[in-house]
Amino acid sequence: MTTALAAIIKQGLRSVGYYRRALAHMSLPGVAVLCYHGIRDDDRASGTIPLDYLHMPASTFEGHCRIIRECCDPISLDDWRAALNAGVPLPKRPVLITFDDGYRSVLTNAAPILAAHSLPATVFVCTGPMRTRQLLWFDYVGARDGDAVVQAWKDRDYESWSNAYSEMPRIDEGDPRALMTPDELATLAAMSGIEIGGHTVRHPILARASASDQRWEIEQNCRDIEQWTGKPARAFAYPNGRPGVDYNADTLAILRDAGVDMAFTTRSSFAQADEPCLERSRFFMLSDTSDAELAHRLAYSWSPELMRA
Ligand SMILES: [Zn+2]
Repeated sequence: MTTALAAIIKQGLRSVGYYRRALAHMSLPGVAVLCYHGIRDDDRASGTIPLDYLHMPASTFEGHCRIIRECCDPISLDDWRAALNAGVPLPKRPVLITFDDGYRSVLTNAAPILAAHSLPATVFVCTGPMRTRQLLWFDYVGARDGDAVVQAWKDRDYESWSNAYSEMPRIDEGDPRALMTPDELATLAAMSGIEIGGHTVRHPILARASASDQRWEIEQNCRDIEQWTGKPARAFAYPNGRPGVDYNADTLAILRDAGVDMAFTTRSSFAQADEPCLERSRFFMLSDTSDAELAHRLAYSWSPELMRA
């Protein structure tokens, strides 16, 4: 079957309520932690934003929120902590929504949709470019030099990467890839159900940095978040996020020292009970993932051995 035909069939199944009924009889094998980035205006056509697979159209995200609200049991990180620390059982189909990097569009486009569906979310932010009003380095380098050069920057050691980083210009505030300002982050943090977590100051590959450089990237990021929002950062997402590749044992020790109790990788799996709290799995959400595709993955393709209740 072609991908296009499969998409049409999945959309048809979604429209007749098939996935809702199927999921109602299932328990997920762990928490489905969904990893989003930016949420773009619908009138910004595909291909008009560099790395646009990171920026999901608002209407697509709205469809995801309907699936999560209608077919699953949305949870906050505090719900999850209560399950771990106080024995409050998690619901049968727990889903946690997360956003990485700190794009302004999370405040302007995602937050109103989340609020309309009463959905909690955790937002992991890089406070350095928020303060200095620059693009994230990979957004700048990717648009200027292409993906291969972004990869070359990821392969540099921290000092060489840091020297190259210092050349970035200030942002055009109308750019759809702009990050929130500190004041905007405070506004988002004050919204019901929103938790702000760390994502380092400047989005380095932590495994390429010394322990002391990693400590600065993590601790300064946590200090910024607490200063700007009035709340400590208790959660964290690793830049790039591949276990055993993009961070190391020093990173875990620094996070523990900083009081972080939940940290998230980009390993693609349900976050199951036997996973370490500082190495939780997530599902990466590309911008062209339809609501029907999300429902299909939750019910079938992410886990062939789902428990049927
Ligand atoms: Zn990131």
